[in-house]
Amino acid sequence: MDDNNYQETIKESKINWGIENDRPIIISGPCSAESRDQVVSTALKLSEMGIKIFRAGVWKPRSRPGNYTGSGSIGLEWLKEVKKLTGMLTAVEVATKDHVQEALQNDVDILWIGARTTVNPFVIQELAETMKGIKNPVLIKNPINPDLDLWTGAIERFLKAGVCNLGVIHRGFSLYKNKKYRNEPLWQIPLDLKTRFPDLPMICDPSHICGNTENIYEVSQKALDLNFDGLMIESHINPLVALSDAKQQITPSELKDLIEKLNVREKVNHIQYSLEKLRGLIDEKDAELVKIMGERMNIVKEIGKIKRENNTIILQADRWNSILGNMIYLGEKYDLNKDFIELIFKSIHQESIYQQSLLMNE
Ligand code: PEP
Ligand code: MN
Repeated sequence: MDDNNYQETIKESKINWGIENDRPIIISGPCSAESRDQVVSTALKLSEMGIKIFRAGVWKPRSRPGNYTGSGSIGLEWLKEVKKLTGMLTAVEVATKDHVQEALQNDVDILWIGARTTVNPFVIQELAETMKGIKNPVLIKNPINPDLDLWTGAIERFLKAGVCNLGVIHRGFSLYKNKKYRNEPLWQIPLDLKTRFPDLPMICDPSHICGNTENIYEVSQKALDLNFDGLMIESHINPLVALSDAKQQITPSELKDLIEKLNVREKVNHIQYSLEKLRGLIDEKDAELVKIMGERMNIVKEIGKIKRENNTIILQADRWNSILGNMIYLGEKYDLNKDFIELIFKSIHQESIYQQSLLMNE
């Protein structure tokens, strides 16, 4: 399958989780499923607020041994109860073939691939093959390291295996010394991924980017302004006693306040028409600029020929200084600052010299 076919596959296989019209799509729930009560009480609160997708890690990949590794399979029973009580969709992280099979047997709706799994093409390949033919949405987190190709490769492996109901989750990137964030957002990477897969739904996970609760709002707002489709935010009925990621989890009621504060800006709105008109004018001016530069360059080449025939040097500093001075003066009339004019004319002049030296040495 070449690149274009991937794009087509994604277009045909729009993610289908039943709530496509929600903007933003909100996925929330605890980092880990810890006990039946913790899972059910958190889910009931979230559901009351209108959250439709409940997340909880059942198998937790931990960087260091000795940390809480999740409830294991029993957590899937609690998630089934959540579905029954609230009608919410459920989402868990899967990292092995067995996880996938167990999650599906227990009616989990959405599977996500964690950052520590996306880094490994062998594991991704095996997961993709195990999932062949499933209709459930699969969300692929970015790899922990800032590697766009590795993230892209994971998406391609799933598509190639026919697992097409895909989305991605941006959860930031681990650097040696992160300062403000636990995982640096490096927004350019998800945006570049978006240019590779324009139709792939993109969720931001501010909880794992921030690693604390203070910056979650700011990161969520930024994600929405960058046209992310949704947010995955960790929430726990009592974050103080959470067994994993305690510092970054917020209560359901804090989540409610956060969502109310978010400004969901319009994608297309009333200013669109005036913008389109003005952009049309800019396009015309840009085309004129290029045409004029081409004509200017033809004159430069004529001069080059005369210099060659008469064996004169290319650079005549006085002439160049006088052009620059005149243009800066003219620029002032049009409210263009000196540095800008200098930058433009230096680059035009450099290209002229280059073209003339090509001619002289023909
Ligand atoms: C999680 O979602 O709790 C988790 C472990 O995330 P990540 O894979 O982004 O570290
Ligand atoms: Mn977590």
